[in-house]
Amino acid sequence: MLKDKFGRTFPYIRLSITDVCNFKCGYCLPNGYQVDKKDNKKFLHLDEIKRLAKVFSKLGVSKIRLTGGEPTVRKDFFEIIKILKNDANINKVVITTNGYHLDEKAKMLVDSGLNGINISIDSLNRNIFEHVTGHDRLPEILKGIKILQELNFDKIKINAVLLSGINASEKDFNMWGEFIKKNKIDLRYIELMRTGDNLDYFNKYHISSKVFKDYLNKNKWIYQTFGKDAGPSLNYINPDFKGKFGIIAPYSKDFCRTCNRLRITSRGDLRLCLFGNTGINIRHLLQRDDQIKELQDLLFTQMKFKKESHYLELGETGLTKNLSTTGG
Ligand code: SAM
Ligand code: SF4
Repeated sequence: MLKDKFGRTFPYIRLSITDVCNFKCGYCLPNGYQVDKKDNKKFLHLDEIKRLAKVFSKLGVSKIRLTGGEPTVRKDFFEIIKILKNDANINKVVITTNGYHLDEKAKMLVDSGLNGINISIDSLNRNIFEHVTGHDRLPEILKGIKILQELNFDKIKINAVLLSGINASEKDFNMWGEFIKKNKIDLRYIELMRTGDNLDYFNKYHISSKVFKDYLNKNKWIYQTFGKDAGPSLNYINPDFKGKFGIIAPYSKDFCRTCNRLRITSRGDLRLCLFGNTGINIRHLLQRDDQIKELQDLLFTQMKFKKESHYLELGETGLTKNLSTTGG
């Protein structure tokens, strides 16, 4: 089992399989994905992903989240899910997606054996959704969610980035409330994070998640203490609602205490923290099956360098230019 010097264990990997994205979220890729002509390195191939997952599986990893960029733009996306589940024996394979063409993909996603889906929807208001993402695609995403539900797939969560003056008013919170009253779907607001690229956006739109916490307290939502696999979300329940509300507040003091995940970028960099300065490349050890031992040893050594906290509150953004390279 991978363990760091603060006693935290890591059964969970977030694997970015591409940097490419078809949306233009203001806080992430406001001008869309830009091809870097000087960069001729390709994203991890299928066989590299297979070896990677097999090694991590041997080290106790039971859950892999595919992310990006937009993971579903990869042509071999469904093949990757299959390999993780069947060849690498990963128990839980989940994804984070912007929901592009979800209506068309919903059935294939369910058939693939996927164990969970996090969909990013910053607002249930179509115009605001378009304003934030640069795409008028809310209806197809909501239709996709309906199809998932009709297929009895209920491991659905929605992420919304909390943006001052855009989706952080009582009216916005109520709109989500109506939605999760009827739907067994968890809605989590993520506090906007500052990255290397988004300083102006951050200064304009960042608002503390306290505003949402206050709303939840005022409306009698009950804080649920951490479960075993709770992750970084603070969850709130209400018996009148089918879904839960959640808050992901990376700037909060205890955020890193429950960290249980490592990240791998689409080019095979191991990231010990979303905002860490450590970014050792492990791709050269994914080329042959007989490199397993060497890779395991490297991973054990790297764990010693995982820091206790991300130090975001000190304005550190590490290597992260935007979250499309590390997958959020
Ligand atoms: N493209 C997919 C999507 O949007 O769901 C997966 C990758 S995206 C980088 C993963 C998550 O990170 C999304 O929920 C997105 O809203 C969130 N995100 C991106 N940049 C962020 C930022 N600066 N602060 C907080 N969340 C951010
Ligand atoms: Fe694309 Fe996701 Fe970044 Fe939006 S948050 S630009 S959907 S990678």
